[in-house]
Amino acid sequence: MIDDIKQLDPQAVFTYFADICAIPHISGHEAAIGAYLMQFAAQHQLPAVQDEVGNVIIEKAATPGREGHPCVILQSHQDMVPAKRPDSTHNFLTDPIRPLIRGGSLYADGTSLGADDGIGMALSLALLADDTLEHGPLRAIFTVAEETSMIGAATLDAKYLQAKYLLNLDSEEDGYIFIASAGSQDLQISFSGDNKQSPDAANEPLVGLKLHLTALAGGHSGTDIHLGRANAINLMAALLLSQSSDFDFYLQSVDGGTVRNAIPNQATYYVVLPQADLEDFKQALLIAFARFKLLYQDTDPHMRLELTQQQAGAYFSFGDTIECLSLINNLPSGPVRPFAEDKSVVETSCNLGLISTQDNVISIELLARSLNDFALDLISDKVASLCYLSDKTELASPHREGCWQSPADTPLINALKRHYAAETGRSMQVTALHAGLETAAFAAKNPQLQLASLGPTVKHPHSADEHCDIAAVQTAYAMLRRTLAEL
Ligand SMILES: [Zn+2]
Repeated sequence: MIDDIKQLDPQAVFTYFADICAIPHISGHEAAIGAYLMQFAAQHQLPAVQDEVGNVIIEKAATPGREGHPCVILQSHQDMVPAKRPDSTHNFLTDPIRPLIRGGSLYADGTSLGADDGIGMALSLALLADDTLEHGPLRAIFTVAEETSMIGAATLDAKYLQAKYLLNLDSEEDGYIFIASAGSQDLQISFSGDNKQSPDAANEPLVGLKLHLTALAGGHSGTDIHLGRANAINLMAALLLSQSSDFDFYLQSVDGGTVRNAIPNQATYYVVLPQADLEDFKQALLIAFARFKLLYQDTDPHMRLELTQQQAGAYFSFGDTIECLSLINNLPSGPVRPFAEDKSVVETSCNLGLISTQDNVISIELLARSLNDFALDLISDKVASLCYLSDKTELASPHREGCWQSPADTPLINALKRHYAAETGRSMQVTALHAGLETAAFAAKNPQLQLASLGPTVKHPHSADEHCDIAAVQTAYAMLRRTLAEL
């Protein structure tokens, strides 16, 4: 199969991609792939350096007569996300990725393929190795840890960004040029209730009830946020509040979500209530839940609510219970505004991603994203103003990632559009990505740099279904060759 892949057109790109697949290269373990890139440079007699964190920078001088042309940077990332089928025994630290051709696409056997961003690296290497191409000065930058900390982009020495143009080869839709990516703001809320009450001190028998909401669709908190999927943490707060005028119940604890940048697909709330009300309360919850299930039947058809009786534990007062549930229910979660240049893309959103309980403190983590710094400030202000309504609530805003927006009309983008149309007969759409890209860090280090992000279609990255469109790789390579010959 590897030999069949190396025969695909363009051969150079797919040969380098097959090499990359053979070298384990998940985030945090980029040493071997970095060594491969340095070896490539040595073999082609190209000057190269590897910096302290592992970023590799390879230079290629202009072809004779084009020395005065502006420098173009081709940028991709070395690391990939490890994802595998539940039945896969793949070891990402030692085993090669086994690519397969299926239909018009490349897949991997039971794992993520690493076309994100192995295909970006392979395109760069093929362009560096192509001695039939006429071009100005070229520089290829291969960063580390894009999928985790983005430390490669964040710490890259600004001297490597002294160039006129930078092409990021890490976006994943054929026919689109990305000129903006979302910045983000972490928001951490803590709700400190009064000391919890003991069920032994109650004047009637109490019982605990575990409400476990599971099997929601979840998804990426940026690129899936417009799909209308249910948020497990929010939904449960709304469900419980719908019963607050008919029943007295008390929150014991709540846990939900897995990471702050995924839409939470499960949440568990523990409540305490009078034993005498248990059956009626369960009935009422199930009736109310059926309405949520109907509302989300398209986006979250498999979601289910499991109710399990427990021993009652220490619980919050009724006042704290309602105050906390109301806060959760009102926190912004979902898309807030569309992008002006392309209304199908979200400009601003917020995801309530995580919730947990420690004693009488409930911690909530949100991730706001926007293509626009001011709009991101507004979301933070909105969350802050909600928190002002409760004197038991405190807000911290620990971490911010910058937004990136480049002009849509630059010589770089115009050249790419023209050459894409010449290759395919189709026009390229200028758009934005409602997620972070390394370009934001580069634009901050060199505000004069003209940046754009593009790449062949890669579907379901970060999953065992990741696959890359073979024809789109051909288009991307042809368009890049034509563009480099012109700039
Ligand atoms: Zn990527």
